[in-house]
Amino acid sequence: MSAKTARITAVETYDIRFPTSRELDGSDAMNPDPDYSAAYLVLRTDAGDGLEGHGFAFTIGRGNDVQVAAIEALREHIVGRPVDQLCADPGTLNRDLIGDSQLRWLGPEKGVMHMAIGAVVNAVWDLAAKRARKPLWQLLAEGDPAWLVSQVDFRYIADALTPEEALDLLRRGRAGGEERTAALLERGYPAYTTSPGWLGYSDDKLTRLAREAVAEGFTQIKLKVGADLQDDIRRCRTARAAVGPDIRIAIDANQRWNVDEAVEWTRALAEFDPYWIEEPTSPDDILGHAAVRKGVAPIKVATGEHVQNRIIFKQLLQAGAIDVLQLDAARVGGVNENLAILLLAAKFGVPVCPHAGGVGLCELVQHLSMFDYVALSGTTENRVIEFVDHLHEHFVTPTVIQDGHYAAPTAPGFSAQMHHDSIATYSYPHGTFWAADTATTKAVTA
Ligand SMILES: [Mg+2]
Repeated sequence: MSAKTARITAVETYDIRFPTSRELDGSDAMNPDPDYSAAYLVLRTDAGDGLEGHGFAFTIGRGNDVQVAAIEALREHIVGRPVDQLCADPGTLNRDLIGDSQLRWLGPEKGVMHMAIGAVVNAVWDLAAKRARKPLWQLLAEGDPAWLVSQVDFRYIADALTPEEALDLLRRGRAGGEERTAALLERGYPAYTTSPGWLGYSDDKLTRLAREAVAEGFTQIKLKVGADLQDDIRRCRTARAAVGPDIRIAIDANQRWNVDEAVEWTRALAEFDPYWIEEPTSPDDILGHAAVRKGVAPIKVATGEHVQNRIIFKQLLQAGAIDVLQLDAARVGGVNENLAILLLAAKFGVPVCPHAGGVGLCELVQHLSMFDYVALSGTTENRVIEFVDHLHEHFVTPTVIQDGHYAAPTAPGFSAQMHHDSIATYSYPHGTFWAADTATTKAVTA
């Protein structure tokens, strides 16, 4: 019997949308009615082991079809690749996708095409971790430092972080890793919750959810701000009264302001002791963030969920523009680019508090923070992962929160896989939920 090289045989894509806008879950000053969505893909192989790679980009509704089309544009780069090689070295695929000389025009390394690359690369890492029979955080934490460095694209960041420095950070980061793994498995990784603070919620609902969050063990909550100042003053006062002085309250403007306005508005909320102001202005405005940071100190400045790549993060760090770096598992070019971003943050000594929520972002990003704790920064001090309590039920291995902490995933993979039923129900527009919804709308308007 001749040994056959197992290859990637198919890239299946799905446009999955959840009707979250109907409950005002996820409402903020810039995004009043999101339908949380996933441009989702499945990598299939002929290895005969039944393992698949799952990945997705997160969007908030309209345009999810555009995101799916971008993933499909990458198909020819992936189908036919030998599975062993691909999983041993996802960095090569990452570079090939970024380097497609025609698709590159659509970025470069930003926007829809780059998010598509991130979804595909993350699906490969899901497959690699499943084949290694390890959760992704552990695969990375046990990875040889030289191999991890080989997974990072240093182009455009080597002026701030060289491969030699990265290797040194990773080698030093391993000391004490076994004890930290034990601590992680025992205690989990600290979380904070955004669930009380959506803009569309009443004060009563805010108070109730804020108190529940504290009772559940969270030591930080977050409030959306930026639509109406008097409203924000009232909501911040309500939240502070609900949680008391010892719980951190972060505020999040979702890019609503100009620079001067960001400073004034944040100062007007200073009496409620906000811990950080998140996305005060455009994610592309590095010098603007630096000015806001100067203007609102000692309130911290945080951003990252819309930062498009490692190059912008590099500049935010070089300019001293942020106190907190909020990487996102599905915004940039996947695990490989997030390794670069974690290394940059470690070099500059800036804590990483990832963005999560959406569809499956909590499931993904916990792996990156846990790797960072075990094998890179070595600490959870002033570090928390965002947690939002919706849509987890659609995932095969959903996030588990215990006493305000993310429990370390133990199942092999990247926790990215959704249930077949969820995909069938919420595929747009022909899944059972949307087909029935369309039928009802037609009946009403007829
Ligand atoms: Mg945010």
